[in-house]
Amino acid sequence: MRDFDQQYEQLCQHVRQTQRLASAAEVLAWDEHTYMPPQAGPYRAEQLQLLAGLVHQRRTDPDWGARLEDLAAWAEEHRPDAPETVNLLRLRRDWRRQKRLPQSLVEELAHTTSRAQQVWAESRPKNDWNAFAPWLEKVLELKRQQAEALDYQQHIYDALLEDYEPGATTASVQAVLQPLGEALRKLVQRIQHAPLKTDPGLLRRHWPRSEQEKLGRWAAEQLGFSFRRGRLDVTAHPFCTRLGPHDVRITTRYDEQFFPSAFFSILHEAGHGLYEQGLPAEQYGLPLGDSVSLGVHESQSRLWENHVGRSLEFWQWCFPKAREHFPQALADVELEQFHRAVNHVEPSLIRVESDEVTYNLHILIRFELEQELLTGALSVADLPQAWNARYEHYLGVQVPDVAQGVMQDVHWSAGLVGYFPTYSLGNLYAAQLMQAAEQDIGPLGPQWSRGQFTPLLQWMREHVHQHGRRYDPAELIRRATGREPEAQPLLEYLTARFSAIYGL
Ligand code: ZN
Repeated sequence: MRDFDQQYEQLCQHVRQTQRLASAAEVLAWDEHTYMPPQAGPYRAEQLQLLAGLVHQRRTDPDWGARLEDLAAWAEEHRPDAPETVNLLRLRRDWRRQKRLPQSLVEELAHTTSRAQQVWAESRPKNDWNAFAPWLEKVLELKRQQAEALDYQQHIYDALLEDYEPGATTASVQAVLQPLGEALRKLVQRIQHAPLKTDPGLLRRHWPRSEQEKLGRWAAEQLGFSFRRGRLDVTAHPFCTRLGPHDVRITTRYDEQFFPSAFFSILHEAGHGLYEQGLPAEQYGLPLGDSVSLGVHESQSRLWENHVGRSLEFWQWCFPKAREHFPQALADVELEQFHRAVNHVEPSLIRVESDEVTYNLHILIRFELEQELLTGALSVADLPQAWNARYEHYLGVQVPDVAQGVMQDVHWSAGLVGYFPTYSLGNLYAAQLMQAAEQDIGPLGPQWSRGQFTPLLQWMREHVHQHGRRYDPAELIRRATGREPEAQPLLEYLTARFSAIYGL
């Protein structure tokens, strides 16, 4: 093919233009969640719907698709190792997947999940399961149709998982999460009967919002988040979004009565942001400039939030600074006391408020239940009971009502089935990457106690960020750590950290 380069450029031009539209929609969505006044909602929905339609049209354009098929086939044969080929093969995979979905199903899913989310938001505070259940049935039926259209080898759940964690299967996720669950259950029980206790009560004092913002912003910057290529704003549910090659937005919420809410969510979102800022900017909009999966993304956020941000060494460095910002709240608090408080472990009902040890048990419950819902082994009518039974089994807690039980998360109403396990995969990858980084660099704790985070960030840049979507997540982890994704590093890390804290 004599004019390969020219054809490749034209093809990329189309993709980059599509990305400009998609990122314009992202700006509008970011604004909707941060600054938009309430009455602007309906018009914003129209803007977003128009842009989403245009983006979908461009991504499923048959002429473009035919050129992509030709070019990818040629490149695969003649230039198998070229970066251009990576982009073409990833684009072809996306295109083929999109093409399998009938337009009518895409539209019905968008419409039904939009309504189901509204019904969820209205009925959850009222504990009205009966109002929500029929909508969940509708969503699940459409997700089954979607999975059948996308096709799968073994388990219907595989088809949906592929959207969030390419290459992962129900069996491969099960193989790491199941043993993790059993081991964590035992660890939680040991912590509950531990000789030492932790007291999170001292975190419930008065923490002025402006000081929280200053400290959070400073910490994010010290970790390496660039405010010349990013911003921090306020929202109801913290998130991170990338609006352009040099524009990463992170958000948080402030609770003046509880220190960890904002601070650790800033570290978490800054971790997502560091990944986005580390992706190759010149490949923005193309697969090589894009994050590889939700699991890998979550590994980066959990790594900075937990491995770094909840370590004793981090607080040896950060605590004196925190004292400057909160002289009253921290007047009678010692460093070690504070560190123990931010690592308090306690089985609870709500996933997003749970600690590092119990978190993955919340995920395991959802992972099991959503598979059964999808196959039909569990009916929606029996779901609340099944939910409550698993909370009793895994966490030893009694669920008092559906608002604090099966209706607490927005995911299922939004059609996000197969999404939950990526949270646990993220925790698993984070521990495995940290182990490998320490093997390469040496112990990192002493560096953190001096406020040095660059060596760790550089390691992540080199082994994770710079690759974009070059490898599937499992291969990326294998290349970075020399091992298959496994639960052992996470168990070792949690056991070591919490044995020290609880005197096990
Ligand atoms: Zn996250």
